[in-house]
Amino acid sequence: MKIEIQIANQAVQEAAKLCSLVQGQLIHKDTLTKKDKSPVTVADYGAQALILHHLGKHYPDIPVTAEESANELLKPENSVLKEQVIQYVQRIQPELSENEMIRAIQRGSHPGGKQGTFWTLDPIDGTKGFIRKEQYAIALALIENGIVTKGIVGCPNLPDSNGNIGSIFFAEKGLGAYKHSMDLLGKPEKITTLSLHSAHEACFCESVESGHSSHSQSAEISKRLKITKEPVRMDSQCKYAAVSRGDAQIYLRLPTIQGYEEKIWDHAAGAILLEEAGGKISDIFGKPLDFSLGKTLKNNSGVVASSEGIFEEVISVVKQALDV
Ligand code: AMP
Ligand code: MG
Repeated sequence: MKIEIQIANQAVQEAAKLCSLVQGQLIHKDTLTKKDKSPVTVADYGAQALILHHLGKHYPDIPVTAEESANELLKPENSVLKEQVIQYVQRIQPELSENEMIRAIQRGSHPGGKQGTFWTLDPIDGTKGFIRKEQYAIALALIENGIVTKGIVGCPNLPDSNGNIGSIFFAEKGLGAYKHSMDLLGKPEKITTLSLHSAHEACFCESVESGHSSHSQSAEISKRLKITKEPVRMDSQCKYAAVSRGDAQIYLRLPTIQGYEEKIWDHAAGAILLEEAGGKISDIFGKPLDFSLGKTLKNNSGVVASSEGIFEEVISVVKQALDV
């Protein structure tokens, strides 16, 4: 069966609408407190429900490996939360019943792996950015026999150089990378990374959270590469979008905890977007990311991504600086 990228784009668009609605209700910009946590949870479940319902309607036989499970939501103590989720979901899809919503969320329990075709979804990647009303992404990818073949990164808050806010980025293996408006009207625009002769001219991006990627080690790498620009810190897979369209040229994700296994839904969509835009990606050892091993990238550590011309220079300095 042919899988249409446009169907996946529409699913991401619906989820983005819900996330923007919820984000509009957030009052606090600052830290993750208990009180602030629930809107994120509402948006997380709501976005997953809309996307999985949409995909289930069009591709009922393709399973999904998603970040959220409905188990928590079904506990009696979470009945208020469940009510909030259904209210938001029905603002986007009025005909969707509570049962359909729960069934949709439950479709996300596939374990991943080497065989067959499945989607992987992070309904809100970068929850901390979502709470700060900064960057977050809705990331959906298709994996076929362990290889990422399609990826969509919805970035509702990401501004472009023309001052427009929000884009849906998508890529298909062998067909290039594109940027579309949030309303999916008009023609998608092809995007490519920006080639540089030397890494010292590069702008690099990394997580806002130093717990997700070491800022001290990236500063050391940046110094060794003679980069003069300040790092751009951004939450979520918006970083992949930034490198894919040439706003930045390097993305470093340097492990902070030994043995941390990156989740496939945190990288699959971004990685194919970047590669189709002409970029290169590996882990900190220079090994390709292996999406065929279940829910995590267990054979990899960290991520190093850049536009093509400077990749060898970047990875060799990363290896030296990290002594790997
Ligand atoms: P970012 O917005 O790029 O900082 O990445 C957000 C993602 O980081 C979340 O979706 C988490 O799955 C993931 N994450 C959580 N803990 C860690 C960690 N210790 N190292 C790397 N990534 C993490
Ligand atoms: Mg995530």
